[in-house]
Amino acid sequence: MSHRLPDFPSVPALLQEFESDLAQAKSPRDAQTVRDKWLGRKKGEVAKLMDSIAQVPPEEKKKIGRLANELKQALEARWARHLEVTEATARPADAVDVTLPGRVPELGHRHPLTVVRDRMEEIFTRMGFAIVEGPEVEDEWHCFDALNMPADHPARDMQDTLYLATPIRGESGRAEDVRTLLRTHTSSMQIRYMQAHQPPVRIVVPGRVYRRDDLDLTHSPAFSQIEGLAVGEGLSLADLKGTLLAFARQMFSPTVRIRFRPSFFPYTEPSAEIDLSCWQCDGAGCAMCKRTGWIELGGCGMVHPTVFEAVGYDAERYTGFAWGIGIERVAILRHQVEDIRLFYENDLRFLEQFPY
Ligand SMILES: [Zn+2]
Repeated sequence: MSHRLPDFPSVPALLQEFESDLAQAKSPRDAQTVRDKWLGRKKGEVAKLMDSIAQVPPEEKKKIGRLANELKQALEARWARHLEVTEATARPADAVDVTLPGRVPELGHRHPLTVVRDRMEEIFTRMGFAIVEGPEVEDEWHCFDALNMPADHPARDMQDTLYLATPIRGESGRAEDVRTLLRTHTSSMQIRYMQAHQPPVRIVVPGRVYRRDDLDLTHSPAFSQIEGLAVGEGLSLADLKGTLLAFARQMFSPTVRIRFRPSFFPYTEPSAEIDLSCWQCDGAGCAMCKRTGWIELGGCGMVHPTVFEAVGYDAERYTGFAWGIGIERVAILRHQVEDIRLFYENDLRFLEQFPY
């Protein structure tokens, strides 16, 4: 078979043909078929041209070879350009549009009780109090005895206190004689701190406490307090009142007034309930203060000398004051939340109302 060399089309003409084949391709798959038709290793046009070299006279071989190479290079270059263009313009429907603004991840925020606790800590820290934390599992001595609550004290009753089945090793090292419990107040940390430090003392102790209570509108078996303790020479009830007033004015309202109502706690003498003038009605009486003009905040008093004796402080030389304020109580007052349970249920519909 003789090759029809004289009318063999030129490279530009063949390239043109390839071009129009490509233009008709409707999909990447079609385009690949066109490519194979021309550049296929065995049956492509270029391959056929190469094969034909064997049948042409020796003087023509070189010419055909060069033609085939030129065509091959031209087609490959064109194919490479075709791929570049289609890849750059191809964009599946779900591709990322890099020009759109990014999706901002949804951030959580602090729990309202944490916000209140942080704020309380901040106020007391500015007044010179150090923040101290202690164990929630306590022994009876730190939680009761040292706080002037002897064995027959009603607060130690099984009905109020959650005792643990497993004892912890006490100071004496004898595990068997130490009854353990979940602390009923943060005051146990007063004892631990005073045992380890000499006056002057100025600490606040935030933390969770436990009582044998059923969960209802105003009670929870676990809640949190901020305990305060100051010990030094010459501290008086006036210092206590001034400290709490300064706190209340920063926490609630700059015009709030304070009132002490006589009360009783075994570990303070005298003891008082802390009332604040209602900052919503300024004492005139409203729903928040239940028409009384006053709002209960917590308990306080001057440290009982017996407590100083328990920790080895000189009760003749030192005086001190202490208070306990419920963190939930403050949160309820600040946010007008009626039901304490809302703070523990972690319902986002509730929590999202406090986006700090
Ligand atoms: Zn009021």
